[in-house]
Amino acid sequence: MQDGYTLTHEHMTIALSPGDLGTDSFDALCGDLRELYGWGVRRIVDLTNPTMGRDPDYTRRLSQATGIRILNATGYYLEPDIPASVDRRSIQDLAAEALRELRDGTAAVIGEIAWSPEPGPRERKTWEAMCLAARETGAPVFTHPSLGPQQLLQAEYLISRGVDPGRIVIGHIEFFPSDEALRRVLETGVYIGLDMIGKDGPDRDEYRADLARTVIGWGYGDRLLLSTDLCRRRDLKACGGYGYGCLFREFLPRLERRGVTRQQMDLLLKANPDRLLGPVGGEPGRPGSLTT
Ligand SMILES: [Zn+2]
Repeated sequence: MQDGYTLTHEHMTIALSPGDLGTDSFDALCGDLRELYGWGVRRIVDLTNPTMGRDPDYTRRLSQATGIRILNATGYYLEPDIPASVDRRSIQDLAAEALRELRDGTAAVIGEIAWSPEPGPRERKTWEAMCLAARETGAPVFTHPSLGPQQLLQAEYLISRGVDPGRIVIGHIEFFPSDEALRRVLETGVYIGLDMIGKDGPDRDEYRADLARTVIGWGYGDRLLLSTDLCRRRDLKACGGYGYGCLFREFLPRLERRGVTRQQMDLLLKANPDRLLGPVGGEPGRPGSLTT
């Protein structure tokens, strides 16, 4: 395999529930990231936005310590985590703040923007604002759908507001209700994230590997992205857990046993992220590379 891989849905810090990865895990996290570096990973998209505990200084230090480029996100998570101050602000004001962050290099992507099963008013408002910011900058947008038909609704919502499908990543595809629903999302032209690899044990990863083989078999391998979405300190390899590296240690061999070639794996981990984000170090959203 080549190197220069990108994991597209991760969290270097997250503060949503007890046991989440905090900034007190620096040394343990560096251990896991060095393993990833050994597997060829050179870039990670950290989808922790400010409502989830984003810490750009911390990710900068991690990056310096490990040699892996880490991109930060701007955006809003689920309704209970969105501050009440959003109620008093206009959609344009929220969009302008995201634009500022994308332009000054604080963030390179919009994510992970989330919908509850019944999207609330703050979710609706922040989604409108993030659509404006995405349209203006071309920054990639990463979503967190809840269960049910939301993946298709999210894709259609973003596209109907002028966001290029080639800049959209619909996350957590393992929660799609059916193969048919998944296929309908792919037909809109968006990327999809198989982004919880390692969670809930080997049987679940067997299911995920089947799902990846199905998507590749349909001819949509150029729209599939892989990641782990590891959030808990106890899941770090350095703390006795499966670690981000399980994607390379255990999941890729599962794909291989299903006939997925090395070339196809490189597509998922390198060519697809590079098409979405730009080459490592040359991401759209960096200062100087934005439309105004
Ligand atoms: Zn996530």
